[in-house]
Amino acid sequence: MIYTDTDHEPEKSAGMLYLCATPIGNLSDITDRVKETLKNADIIAAEDTRNTLKLLNHLGIKAQLVSYHEHNKYDRAAELADKMEKGLDVALVTDAGTPGISDPGEVITKMCYDRGIRVTSLPGPCALVTALSLSGLPARRFVFEGFLPGDRKERHRVLEDLRSEIRTIVIYESPHHLKKTLSELLEVLGDRETAICRELTKKFESVERVRLSEADEYYKDHDPRGEYVLIIKGLSREQLEKEKAADFLDMGINEHMAVYEDQGIDHKEAMKMVAKDRGISRREVYQMLLDETNDKRS
Ligand code: SAM
Repeated sequence: MIYTDTDHEPEKSAGMLYLCATPIGNLSDITDRVKETLKNADIIAAEDTRNTLKLLNHLGIKAQLVSYHEHNKYDRAAELADKMEKGLDVALVTDAGTPGISDPGEVITKMCYDRGIRVTSLPGPCALVTALSLSGLPARRFVFEGFLPGDRKERHRVLEDLRSEIRTIVIYESPHHLKKTLSELLEVLGDRETAICRELTKKFESVERVRLSEADEYYKDHDPRGEYVLIIKGLSREQLEKEKAADFLDMGINEHMAVYEDQGIDHKEAMKMVAKDRGISRREVYQMLLDETNDKRS
């Protein structure tokens, strides 16, 4: 359903879900709207109830808290949706930052849409945006990976995809996996410019603007502490073209033709593109195709 400005106010016959962004370190970063919503909600669903209790105590708010986390998110989302259908308002807070960003928030949000329950988001702190704005790296276009997958194959696939990424890359990482992730990033992406953003909005906030090799070297001798966001510069268009050209030169001429023909591009056009990639004439491509076919036959 699309809401217009005129019907933006929620109808009070049904309850709704309020996605409440909470501080990622500095408690003063909470917004007035979030405070009001937490005060007025019938139920507060929290990823870590102990953490949220501390926040509520700090704000002087007493409320009914229920847990909503990775291991109960489907069942609990259904229970909370039942309550919202009966008219109760639910405020969702995750561990820190904006619900739905690399945390279980998206499950209950989707369920609300599926069941016709209204959802609104109260914007506020988010580690991704805080780090990106602080990084000094190009922020006009970026790609957010969240946590890299734990599964070895899937992780390798994601890292390979990132190799040719021209947008700035944003990755969340825990201190336990930082060393491994930095060395893998260096190996696959090469020695990129990076900003290691740590403990944002907290007392020991730091942003190290270094190359991946320097970060990798540093953390060989120092144990990571606290929470991290890694911002990595994407490839420039020129670097991308060079990488592609190098990849093409590693291919046989038929394999190179297949790159385009498999996309439905006709033979003549594919020859033109292959010639351009290799900086040679179409006649030379034609000759190479003949030679490669003859080599295979002999
Ligand atoms: N929903 C949150 C948000 O809006 O940013 C992210 C939740 S995710 C489970 C937690 C990760 O966010 C951490 O492992 C870290 O990578 C990043 N993070 C959260 N708070 C941070 C902080 N104060 N400084 C640096 N990174 C932080």
